[in-house]
Amino acid sequence: MSKVYTFNVRTQQATAMIDITRQVQEAVSESKVENGICVVFIPHTTAAITINENADPDVVRDFLMEINKVIPFSDGYHHIEGNSAAHIKSSLMGFSETVIIENGRLLLGTWQGIYLTEFDGPRTRKVHVKIIEG
Ligand code: ZN
Repeated sequence: MSKVYTFNVRTQQATAMIDITRQVQEAVSESKVENGICVVFIPHTTAAITINENADPDVVRDFLMEINKVIPFSDGYHHIEGNSAAHIKSSLMGFSETVIIENGRLLLGTWQGIYLTEFDGPRTRKVHVKIIEG
């Protein structure tokens, strides 16, 4: 049975996209699995996991600018905790990604990175990584 690798990420702003590709690759390397799949999962309801471009930081900037327009922080929400926008963004983005492992490396495209997206920060977030050989 393969174990679950877990690491923490500290976010600094209310909304952010943090590149966690390095930490996920470290888990893959530590597992010694050469070929298989890697599931990256976040156990939170106001954050998400996604894959997108990690070359130009303006992609992240534009992404956050637009998602905060599409789902505004205030819009007559009912949820008493006051973070409905974050809950909605998280479900739209999703809580996990699956990446193929080939020759011990994440089989990502040249411009792809794995991101933790924070929608209700700043907080410390937990990320779980499960690696399955095959
Ligand atoms: Zn809430």
